[in-house]
Amino acid sequence: MLRGEGDTITEILVIPESLYGEGFSSIRSYHIPLDKTIIGSVHSHPSRNNKPSEEDLIHFSQSGRIHLIVRQPALDIGDIACYDSTGRIMQLLKKTKRQ
Ligand SMILES: [Zn+2]
Repeated sequence: MLRGEGDTITEILVIPESLYGEGFSSIRSYHIPLDKTIIGSVHSHPSRNNKPSEEDLIHFSQSGRIHLIVRQPALDIGDIACYDSTGRIMQLLKKTKRQ
């Protein structure tokens, strides 16, 4: 899951007992903390496709407003697609910390 402020992602939360394997992943929703700072989710696809599946769109509609899908090989920010809760693609910008 993604933690953030507004539309800025500040942290990735790993949910306990998340399952993953070749071609699938799942999380146990009852392990997601009731936390208003959770703004969305992130998961990866095992291919060059980072478009949401039908199951992804259902998950997006139920779990926040910003969702990232990482395609393989994850080499740079161009391999990450960002979607809103309806599956509409959004622009993902890398923000650097001020020194
Ligand atoms: Zn997916």
